[in-house]
Amino acid sequence: MNRFNELQDILLRTRCGACGAKLEAPVMSLGGVPLANEFTHCSAAKNLPVYPLDLCLCHTCGLLQLGHLVSPSRLFSSYPYLTGTSSTMKIHFEDYARRVIKDGALDPGDLVVDIGSNDATLLRCFKELGTRILGVDPAKNLAKQVSQQGIHVIPDFFSSRLARRIMEEYGPASVITANNVMAHVPEPSDVLKGFSLLLAPGGKVIAEVPYLADLLAGTAFDTIYHEHVSYFSVSALVHLFRGAGMVIEKIVRLKVHGGSLRIIAGMATHTKTGPEVEQLVRQESKDGLRDQVTIDLFEKRVRFFKERFKNSLLNYKKQGKSLAAYGAPAKGSMLLFHCGIGPDILDYTVDANPLKQGMCMPGTAIPIFPVSRLKQDRPDLLIILPWNMADEIIRQESWFSVHGGKFIIPLPLSNYDQAEARL
Ligand SMILES: [Zn+2]
Repeated sequence: MNRFNELQDILLRTRCGACGAKLEAPVMSLGGVPLANEFTHCSAAKNLPVYPLDLCLCHTCGLLQLGHLVSPSRLFSSYPYLTGTSSTMKIHFEDYARRVIKDGALDPGDLVVDIGSNDATLLRCFKELGTRILGVDPAKNLAKQVSQQGIHVIPDFFSSRLARRIMEEYGPASVITANNVMAHVPEPSDVLKGFSLLLAPGGKVIAEVPYLADLLAGTAFDTIYHEHVSYFSVSALVHLFRGAGMVIEKIVRLKVHGGSLRIIAGMATHTKTGPEVEQLVRQESKDGLRDQVTIDLFEKRVRFFKERFKNSLLNYKKQGKSLAAYGAPAKGSMLLFHCGIGPDILDYTVDANPLKQGMCMPGTAIPIFPVSRLKQDRPDLLIILPWNMADEIIRQESWFSVHGGKFIIPLPLSNYDQAEARL
Protein backbone atom coordinates (compact mmCIF):
# COMPACT_ATOMS: atom_id res chain seq x y z
CA MET A 1 0.00 0.00 0.00
CA ASN A 2 1.24 3.45 -0.83
CA ARG A 3 1.00 5.92 2.00
CA PHE A 4 0.37 9.60 1.42
CA ASN A 5 3.43 11.68 2.09
CA GLU A 6 2.87 13.63 5.27
CA LEU A 7 3.71 16.90 3.56
CA GLN A 8 7.42 16.46 4.04
CA ASP A 9 9.39 17.43 0.93
CA ILE A 10 6.23 18.89 -0.58
CA LEU A 11 4.91 22.39 -0.92
CA LEU A 12 1.42 23.57 -1.84
CA ARG A 13 1.91 26.16 -4.53
CA THR A 14 -0.03 29.39 -4.12
CA ARG A 15 1.67 31.54 -6.77
CA CYS A 16 2.47 31.00 -10.45
CA GLY A 17 6.12 30.00 -11.04
CA ALA A 18 6.30 32.16 -14.15
CA CYS A 19 4.53 35.42 -13.33
CA GLY A 20 3.87 35.29 -9.57
CA ALA A 21 0.07 35.72 -9.86
CA LYS A 22 -2.14 33.96 -7.29
CA LEU A 23 -3.08 30.43 -8.32
CA GLU A 24 -6.65 29.24 -7.99
CA ALA A 25 -8.05 25.73 -7.43
CA PRO A 26 -6.68 22.93 -9.64
CA VAL A 27 -8.26 22.44 -13.08
CA MET A 28 -7.52 18.71 -12.97
CA SER A 29 -6.38 16.15 -10.39
CA LEU A 30 -4.51 12.95 -11.22
CA GLY A 31 -4.68 11.67 -7.63
CA GLY A 32 -1.74 10.65 -5.42
CA VAL A 33 1.23 9.08 -7.23
CA PRO A 34 4.76 7.98 -6.27
CA LEU A 35 7.74 9.86 -7.70
CA ALA A 36 8.09 8.58 -11.26
CA ASN A 37 11.87 8.15 -11.07
CA GLU A 38 12.03 6.55 -7.64
CA PHE A 39 13.29 3.18 -8.83
CA THR A 40 13.92 1.02 -5.84
CA HIS A 41 14.20 -2.59 -4.64
CA CYS A 42 10.99 -4.55 -5.05
CA SER A 43 10.29 -4.91 -1.33
CA ALA A 44 10.11 -1.11 -0.99
CA ALA A 45 8.52 -0.25 -4.36
CA LYS A 46 4.92 -0.87 -3.25
CA ASN A 47 5.28 1.18 -0.08
CA LEU A 48 6.72 4.35 -1.52
CA PRO A 49 5.05 7.58 -0.40
CA VAL A 50 2.61 9.13 -2.86
CA TYR A 51 2.28 12.84 -3.59
CA PRO A 52 -0.75 14.74 -4.91
CA LEU A 53 -0.57 15.38 -8.67
CA ASP A 54 -2.84 18.33 -9.48
CA LEU A 55 -2.73 20.77 -12.39
CA CYS A 56 -3.37 24.50 -11.93
CA LEU A 57 -3.79 27.08 -14.66
CA CYS A 58 -2.51 30.62 -14.17
CA HIS A 59 -5.20 33.00 -15.37
CA THR A 60 -2.66 35.79 -15.86
CA CYS A 61 0.08 34.23 -18.03
CA GLY A 62 -1.70 31.00 -19.04
CA LEU A 63 0.94 28.60 -17.67
CA LEU A 64 -0.37 25.15 -16.77
CA GLN A 65 1.61 23.93 -13.75
CA LEU A 66 1.57 21.50 -10.85
CA GLY A 67 -0.32 22.56 -7.75
CA HIS A 68 2.27 20.94 -5.46
CA LEU A 69 6.05 21.03 -5.60
CA VAL A 70 8.27 18.21 -4.41
CA SER A 71 11.63 19.53 -3.20
CA PRO A 72 14.12 19.47 -6.14
CA SER A 73 16.85 17.92 -3.98
CA ARG A 74 14.51 14.95 -3.40
CA LEU A 75 13.74 14.68 -7.12
CA PHE A 76 17.05 15.21 -8.86
CA SER A 77 19.94 14.39 -6.52
CA SER A 78 20.44 11.00 -8.19
CA TYR A 79 18.78 11.13 -11.58
CA PRO A 80 18.66 7.76 -13.36
CA TYR A 81 17.98 9.05 -16.90
CA LEU A 82 21.00 8.95 -19.20
CA THR A 83 20.61 10.80 -22.51
CA GLY A 84 23.39 8.77 -24.14
CA THR A 85 21.62 5.43 -23.61
CA SER A 86 19.14 6.31 -26.34
CA SER A 87 20.44 6.49 -29.90
CA THR A 88 17.37 8.55 -30.93
CA MET A 89 18.44 11.26 -28.47
CA LYS A 90 22.11 11.03 -29.51
CA ILE A 91 21.28 11.61 -33.17
CA HIS A 92 18.89 14.38 -32.14
CA PHE A 93 21.64 16.21 -30.22
CA GLU A 94 24.33 15.79 -32.90
CA ASP A 95 21.97 17.28 -35.43
CA TYR A 96 21.14 20.04 -32.95
CA ALA A 97 24.79 21.06 -32.42
CA ARG A 98 25.49 21.12 -36.15
CA ARG A 99 22.46 23.28 -36.83
CA VAL A 100 23.47 25.82 -34.17
CA ILE A 101 26.93 26.19 -35.74
CA LYS A 102 25.47 26.33 -39.27
CA ASP A 103 23.00 29.03 -38.26
CA GLY A 104 26.01 31.22 -37.43
CA ALA A 105 25.26 31.55 -33.73
CA LEU A 106 28.76 30.35 -32.80
CA ASP A 107 32.41 30.85 -33.68
CA PRO A 108 35.26 28.59 -32.52
CA GLY A 109 36.27 29.54 -28.96
CA ASP A 110 32.83 30.87 -28.04
CA LEU A 111 31.29 29.61 -24.81
CA VAL A 112 28.34 27.18 -24.87
CA VAL A 113 26.64 26.55 -21.54
CA ASP A 114 24.32 23.55 -21.40
CA ILE A 115 21.83 23.61 -18.56
CA GLY A 116 20.74 20.14 -17.48
CA SER A 117 23.78 18.67 -19.24
CA ASN A 118 23.00 15.12 -18.06
CA ASP A 119 25.72 12.74 -19.39
CA ALA A 120 27.09 15.54 -21.66
CA THR A 121 25.86 13.99 -24.93
CA LEU A 122 25.13 17.46 -26.34
CA LEU A 123 28.28 19.12 -24.93
CA ARG A 124 30.49 16.47 -26.55
CA CYS A 125 28.93 17.35 -29.91
CA PHE A 126 29.76 21.04 -29.39
CA LYS A 127 33.28 20.23 -28.15
CA GLU A 128 34.01 18.29 -31.34
CA LEU A 129 32.92 21.36 -33.28
CA GLY A 130 35.54 23.50 -31.51
CA THR A 131 33.70 25.59 -28.92
CA ARG A 132 34.38 26.10 -25.21
CA ILE A 133 31.84 24.19 -23.16
CA LEU A 134 30.43 24.16 -19.64
CA GLY A 135 27.70 21.98 -18.16
CA VAL A 136 25.32 22.61 -15.28
CA ASP A 137 23.47 19.67 -13.74
CA PRO A 138 22.23 19.05 -10.19
CA ALA A 139 22.59 15.25 -10.43
CA LYS A 140 25.87 14.89 -8.53
CA ASN A 141 26.47 11.31 -9.70
CA LEU A 142 26.36 12.39 -13.37
CA ALA A 143 28.31 15.64 -12.85
CA LYS A 144 31.15 13.70 -11.20
CA GLN A 145 31.21 11.03 -13.90
CA VAL A 146 31.30 13.61 -16.71
CA SER A 147 33.91 15.83 -14.97
CA GLN A 148 36.19 12.77 -14.77
CA GLN A 149 36.03 12.65 -18.58
CA GLY A 150 37.41 16.21 -18.80
CA ILE A 151 34.13 18.08 -19.28
CA HIS A 152 33.50 20.60 -16.53
CA VAL A 153 30.03 20.38 -15.01
CA ILE A 154 28.82 22.54 -12.13
CA PRO A 155 26.76 20.21 -9.90
CA ASP A 156 23.97 22.67 -9.11
CA PHE A 157 20.56 23.99 -10.16
CA PHE A 158 20.74 26.82 -12.66
CA SER A 159 19.49 30.10 -11.20
CA SER A 160 20.14 33.83 -11.54
CA ARG A 161 22.63 33.49 -8.67
CA LEU A 162 24.58 30.76 -10.48
CA ALA A 163 24.41 32.73 -13.76
CA ARG A 164 26.27 35.62 -12.04
CA ARG A 165 28.95 33.19 -10.82
CA ILE A 166 29.42 31.64 -14.29
CA MET A 167 29.61 35.13 -15.82
CA GLU A 168 32.44 36.07 -13.41
CA GLU A 169 34.41 32.85 -13.93
CA TYR A 170 33.85 32.11 -17.64
CA GLY A 171 32.54 35.32 -19.20
CA PRO A 172 29.34 35.62 -21.27
CA ALA A 173 27.83 32.70 -23.16
CA SER A 174 27.20 32.98 -26.89
CA VAL A 175 24.78 30.10 -26.69
CA ILE A 176 22.86 28.74 -23.73
CA THR A 177 21.14 25.43 -24.35
CA ALA A 178 18.46 24.07 -22.05
CA ASN A 179 16.77 20.92 -23.25
CA ASN A 180 13.94 19.61 -21.12
CA VAL A 181 15.02 21.80 -18.26
CA MET A 182 12.48 24.61 -18.13
CA ALA A 183 9.60 22.23 -17.49
CA HIS A 184 11.46 20.84 -14.47
CA VAL A 185 12.17 24.03 -12.53
CA PRO A 186 9.79 25.41 -9.89
CA GLU A 187 10.61 29.06 -10.74
CA PRO A 188 11.08 29.38 -14.51
CA SER A 189 11.11 33.18 -14.07
CA ASP A 190 14.42 32.96 -12.15
CA VAL A 191 15.95 30.68 -14.81
CA LEU A 192 14.96 33.25 -17.45
CA LYS A 193 16.57 36.00 -15.40
CA GLY A 194 19.72 33.84 -15.30
CA PHE A 195 19.67 33.51 -19.12
CA SER A 196 19.44 37.27 -19.52
CA LEU A 197 22.37 37.85 -17.11
CA LEU A 198 24.66 35.29 -18.75
CA LEU A 199 23.95 35.87 -22.43
CA ALA A 200 26.49 37.74 -24.58
CA PRO A 201 25.02 40.67 -26.59
CA GLY A 202 23.40 39.04 -29.61
CA GLY A 203 23.70 35.60 -27.98
CA LYS A 204 21.00 32.96 -28.25
CA VAL A 205 19.10 30.77 -25.84
CA ILE A 206 18.05 27.51 -27.45
CA ALA A 207 15.61 25.58 -25.33
CA GLU A 208 13.44 22.56 -25.88
CA VAL A 209 10.27 21.95 -23.93
CA PRO A 210 7.49 19.39 -24.32
CA TYR A 211 4.52 21.12 -25.98
CA LEU A 212 1.23 21.25 -24.09
CA ALA A 213 -0.83 21.15 -27.31
CA ASP A 214 0.80 17.82 -28.27
CA LEU A 215 0.35 16.42 -24.76
CA LEU A 216 -3.36 17.20 -24.82
CA ALA A 217 -3.86 16.08 -28.42
CA GLY A 218 -2.22 12.69 -27.79
CA THR A 219 -3.74 12.18 -24.30
CA ALA A 220 -0.15 11.76 -23.07
CA PHE A 221 -1.16 11.95 -19.41
CA ASP A 222 1.75 9.69 -18.46
CA THR A 223 4.14 12.60 -19.15
CA ILE A 224 2.56 14.49 -16.24
CA TYR A 225 4.61 13.79 -13.11
CA HIS A 226 6.31 15.66 -10.32
CA GLU A 227 9.58 16.26 -12.17
CA HIS A 228 7.57 18.15 -14.79
CA VAL A 229 6.39 21.24 -12.97
CA SER A 230 5.31 23.33 -16.00
CA TYR A 231 3.40 22.41 -19.18
CA PHE A 232 4.17 25.12 -21.73
CA SER A 233 2.00 26.63 -24.41
CA VAL A 234 3.61 29.09 -26.82
CA SER A 235 1.56 31.95 -25.35
CA ALA A 236 2.82 31.16 -21.81
CA LEU A 237 6.41 31.01 -23.14
CA VAL A 238 6.11 34.37 -24.89
CA HIS A 239 4.91 35.87 -21.59
CA LEU A 240 7.74 34.21 -19.65
CA PHE A 241 10.54 35.37 -21.97
CA ARG A 242 9.09 38.87 -22.16
CA GLY A 243 9.31 39.06 -18.34
CA ALA A 244 13.12 38.73 -18.61
CA GLY A 245 13.45 41.30 -21.42
CA MET A 246 13.73 38.55 -24.03
CA VAL A 247 11.95 37.73 -27.27
CA ILE A 248 11.34 34.39 -29.04
CA GLU A 249 12.55 34.75 -32.62
CA LYS A 250 11.95 31.22 -33.83
CA ILE A 251 9.99 28.13 -32.86
CA VAL A 252 10.34 24.71 -34.43
CA ARG A 253 7.91 21.91 -33.63
CA LEU A 254 9.69 18.60 -33.01
CA LYS A 255 8.53 15.01 -32.68
CA VAL A 256 10.91 14.30 -29.80
CA HIS A 257 9.34 13.34 -26.43
CA GLY A 258 5.92 12.96 -28.07
CA GLY A 259 5.88 16.56 -29.32
CA SER A 260 8.19 19.39 -28.29
CA LEU A 261 9.05 22.95 -29.15
CA ARG A 262 12.55 24.18 -29.92
CA ILE A 263 12.66 27.85 -29.00
CA ILE A 264 15.37 30.21 -30.12
CA ALA A 265 15.35 33.45 -28.16
CA GLY A 266 17.52 36.48 -27.59
CA MET A 267 17.48 39.80 -25.76
CA ALA A 268 14.68 42.13 -26.90
CA THR A 269 17.34 44.68 -27.88
CA HIS A 270 18.77 42.30 -30.52
CA THR A 271 15.79 40.14 -31.51
CA LYS A 272 12.44 40.30 -33.31
CA THR A 273 9.46 37.99 -32.79
CA GLY A 274 9.20 35.45 -35.61
CA PRO A 275 5.94 35.14 -37.64
CA GLU A 276 5.44 31.47 -36.66
CA VAL A 277 5.44 32.48 -32.99
CA GLU A 278 2.49 34.81 -33.52
CA GLN A 279 0.75 32.23 -35.68
CA LEU A 280 1.06 29.55 -32.96
CA VAL A 281 -0.30 31.93 -30.32
CA ARG A 282 -3.35 32.59 -32.54
CA GLN A 283 -3.84 28.86 -33.14
CA GLU A 284 -3.71 28.11 -29.39
CA SER A 285 -6.36 30.71 -28.73
CA LYS A 286 -8.55 29.21 -31.48
CA ASP A 287 -8.05 25.69 -30.04
CA GLY A 288 -9.04 26.86 -26.55
CA LEU A 289 -5.77 25.72 -24.95
CA ARG A 290 -6.53 27.79 -21.84
CA ASP A 291 -10.18 26.71 -21.56
CA GLN A 292 -11.53 24.46 -18.81
CA VAL A 293 -13.60 22.59 -21.40
CA THR A 294 -10.38 21.48 -23.15
CA ILE A 295 -8.97 20.12 -19.88
CA ASP A 296 -12.29 18.40 -19.10
CA LEU A 297 -12.22 16.62 -22.46
CA PHE A 298 -8.63 15.56 -21.81
CA GLU A 299 -9.63 14.17 -18.41
CA LYS A 300 -12.44 12.18 -20.03
CA ARG A 301 -10.05 10.65 -22.56
CA VAL A 302 -7.60 9.74 -19.76
CA ARG A 303 -10.35 7.82 -17.93
CA PHE A 304 -11.33 6.06 -21.16
CA PHE A 305 -7.72 5.06 -21.89
CA LYS A 306 -6.98 3.74 -18.38
CA GLU A 307 -9.97 1.45 -18.38
CA ARG A 308 -9.54 0.19 -21.91
CA PHE A 309 -5.78 -0.40 -21.61
CA LYS A 310 -6.01 -2.47 -18.43
CA ASN A 311 -8.95 -4.49 -19.80
CA SER A 312 -7.08 -5.28 -23.02
CA LEU A 313 -4.09 -6.58 -21.02
CA LEU A 314 -6.36 -8.65 -18.78
CA ASN A 315 -7.92 -10.18 -21.89
CA TYR A 316 -4.52 -11.20 -23.22
CA LYS A 317 -3.73 -12.69 -19.83
CA LYS A 318 -6.99 -14.69 -19.89
CA GLN A 319 -5.96 -16.08 -23.27
CA GLY A 320 -2.80 -17.43 -21.57
CA LYS A 321 -0.41 -14.98 -23.23
CA SER A 322 2.77 -13.80 -21.52
CA LEU A 323 3.29 -10.05 -21.17
CA ALA A 324 6.46 -8.04 -20.71
CA ALA A 325 7.32 -4.39 -21.24
CA TYR A 326 10.26 -2.60 -22.83
CA GLY A 327 11.84 0.34 -21.03
CA ALA A 328 11.52 1.85 -17.58
CA PRO A 329 11.00 5.56 -18.29
CA ALA A 330 9.36 7.87 -15.77
CA LYS A 331 6.29 8.00 -18.01
CA GLY A 332 6.14 4.19 -17.85
CA SER A 333 6.01 4.36 -14.04
CA MET A 334 3.04 6.71 -14.33
CA LEU A 335 1.24 4.72 -17.03
CA LEU A 336 1.41 1.47 -15.05
CA PHE A 337 0.54 3.13 -11.74
CA HIS A 338 -2.46 5.07 -13.09
CA CYS A 339 -3.82 1.99 -14.88
CA GLY A 340 -3.31 -0.26 -11.82
CA ILE A 341 -1.06 -2.70 -13.68
CA GLY A 342 1.06 -4.77 -11.29
CA PRO A 343 3.16 -7.97 -11.54
CA ASP A 344 -0.09 -10.01 -11.61
CA ILE A 345 -0.67 -8.67 -15.15
CA LEU A 346 2.76 -7.64 -16.38
CA ASP A 347 5.62 -10.03 -15.59
CA TYR A 348 8.49 -7.56 -15.90
CA THR A 349 10.06 -4.82 -17.96
CA VAL A 350 13.57 -4.55 -19.41
CA ASP A 351 15.84 -1.52 -19.68
CA ALA A 352 19.27 -0.85 -21.19
CA ASN A 353 20.20 1.54 -18.35
CA PRO A 354 22.30 -0.42 -15.81
CA LEU A 355 21.23 2.04 -13.06
CA LYS A 356 17.67 0.72 -13.36
CA GLN A 357 18.35 -3.00 -13.78
CA GLY A 358 17.62 -5.02 -10.63
CA MET A 359 15.26 -2.29 -9.41
CA CYS A 360 11.46 -2.13 -9.55
CA MET A 361 8.95 0.30 -11.04
CA PRO A 362 7.81 2.75 -8.31
CA GLY A 363 4.36 2.03 -6.90
CA THR A 364 3.64 -1.11 -8.96
CA ALA A 365 6.77 -3.13 -8.03
CA ILE A 366 7.22 -4.50 -11.55
CA PRO A 367 10.81 -5.77 -11.76
CA ILE A 368 13.30 -4.31 -14.28
CA PHE A 369 15.71 -6.72 -16.00
CA PRO A 370 18.45 -6.30 -18.63
CA VAL A 371 17.21 -6.31 -22.24
CA SER A 372 18.82 -9.75 -22.84
CA ARG A 373 16.05 -11.29 -20.74
CA LEU A 374 13.61 -10.88 -23.66
CA LYS A 375 15.54 -13.31 -25.86
CA GLN A 376 15.57 -15.91 -23.08
CA ASP A 377 11.83 -15.64 -22.36
CA ARG A 378 10.32 -14.61 -25.70
CA PRO A 379 7.08 -13.20 -24.26
CA ASP A 380 4.00 -13.07 -26.53
CA LEU A 381 3.43 -9.34 -26.08
CA LEU A 382 5.76 -6.44 -25.46
CA ILE A 383 4.44 -3.06 -24.28
CA ILE A 384 6.70 -0.20 -25.34
CA LEU A 385 6.65 2.17 -22.35
CA PRO A 386 8.88 4.90 -23.94
CA TRP A 387 6.31 5.08 -26.75
CA ASN A 388 7.95 8.22 -28.15
CA MET A 389 10.88 5.97 -29.13
CA ALA A 390 8.76 3.11 -30.48
CA ASP A 391 10.28 3.22 -34.00
CA GLU A 392 13.82 2.87 -32.68
CA ILE A 393 12.87 0.05 -30.29
CA ILE A 394 10.92 -1.90 -32.92
CA ARG A 395 13.92 -1.61 -35.28
CA GLN A 396 16.38 -2.70 -32.59
CA GLU A 397 14.25 -5.64 -31.47
CA SER A 398 13.06 -6.69 -34.94
CA TRP A 399 13.74 -10.34 -34.01
CA PHE A 400 10.77 -10.12 -31.65
CA SER A 401 8.11 -9.74 -34.35
CA VAL A 402 9.97 -12.15 -36.64
CA HIS A 403 9.36 -14.77 -33.93
CA GLY A 404 5.64 -13.94 -33.77
CA GLY A 405 5.73 -11.46 -30.85
CA LYS A 406 3.40 -8.46 -30.87
CA PHE A 407 4.43 -4.94 -29.90
CA ILE A 408 1.92 -2.77 -28.03
CA ILE A 409 2.37 1.00 -28.31
CA PRO A 410 0.03 2.39 -25.62
CA LEU A 411 0.05 6.10 -26.52
CA PRO A 412 -0.55 8.61 -28.06
CA LEU A 413 -4.26 7.98 -28.62
CA SER A 414 -5.15 7.90 -32.31
CA ASN A 415 -7.79 10.21 -33.75
CA TYR A 416 -10.17 7.26 -33.92
CA ASP A 417 -9.74 6.55 -30.19
CA GLN A 418 -10.10 10.22 -29.38
CA ALA A 419 -13.50 10.23 -31.10
CA GLU A 420 -14.56 7.05 -29.28
CA ALA A 421 -13.55 8.53 -25.92
CA ARG A 422 -15.88 11.47 -26.48
CA LEU A 423 -18.99 9.25 -26.74
ZN1 LIG B 1 1.36 33.08 -14.36
